[in-house]
Amino acid sequence: MPNTPLIDLSFDGHMHTRWCHHATGTMEEYVLSAIDKRLNHIVFLEHMEATGVNYFETTWLTDQDFDDYFAEGQKLQKKYGNQLTIGLGVEVGYSVTQHQELRDRLSRRCWDQIGVSYHFMPVPDQEYDLNLVSRQERNVRAIAETGCEKVLDNYFSSLIEAVHVLPGTVLCHLDAALRFQPGLQLTRNHWQQIEELLDTVKAKNMALEINTSGFAVRGTPFPAPAIIQMAISRGIPLVAGSDAHRAVDVGRHFQQLPELLGQFSTLK
Ligand SMILES: [Zn+2]
Ligand SMILES: [Zn+2]
Repeated sequence: MPNTPLIDLSFDGHMHTRWCHHATGTMEEYVLSAIDKRLNHIVFLEHMEATGVNYFETTWLTDQDFDDYFAEGQKLQKKYGNQLTIGLGVEVGYSVTQHQELRDRLSRRCWDQIGVSYHFMPVPDQEYDLNLVSRQERNVRAIAETGCEKVLDNYFSSLIEAVHVLPGTVLCHLDAALRFQPGLQLTRNHWQQIEELLDTVKAKNMALEINTSGFAVRGTPFPAPAIIQMAISRGIPLVAGSDAHRAVDVGRHFQQLPELLGQFSTLK
């Protein structure tokens, strides 16, 4: 697969396994899929959330799970190390009220990558925290009831805080929040927040994830090309991530990135 100068297409920096209860397949199945697709570097980015998340199902790992995840991952690094590089990372979902807990838990392990996201937003008047990236009808309805513009204001401001506060290495799926709300429009204020967010990513020497799961949802990655262009003009490194929740999805849609990024590669 040809590489553009802007991104390494032999590297998938974002995948989940059955450890998180909403993905399927063992870590080894993802490794074998990556080898099959001739990738030479992958990073597992399993879900960590603060203990206070109020939600009707558990879609993240406990600290005990993370112990087991590291043990399994290290076995696979030995077994397949001559075929590809396997990184063990985490996708940490931000919590405005419990960021110290997240920082403490992150500091106890040696992660190859720390992806920063914001998935669960507590709001008054709803039984559960809003799941900002869910396609489930009850979640989509709860967000609409709270108000999309307000939720997005809060999403971007919390994400800016997360990038400041957490020891992240890559910002995940920047504009994926509310992706299942029909007709969603970003306001001028949201675009200003995105500018500030990217400035913060740059200041923290983090990378921006080009999350190719977006191709299946809306025909472009997360984030949208206009935001990718803003990142490139700031000199922010880009990392491809499939966000695979099935082994077969490792490296999915990567072949669409050269054409998409080709339009930016000559920009200064
Ligand atoms: Zn997930
Ligand atoms: Zn995520």
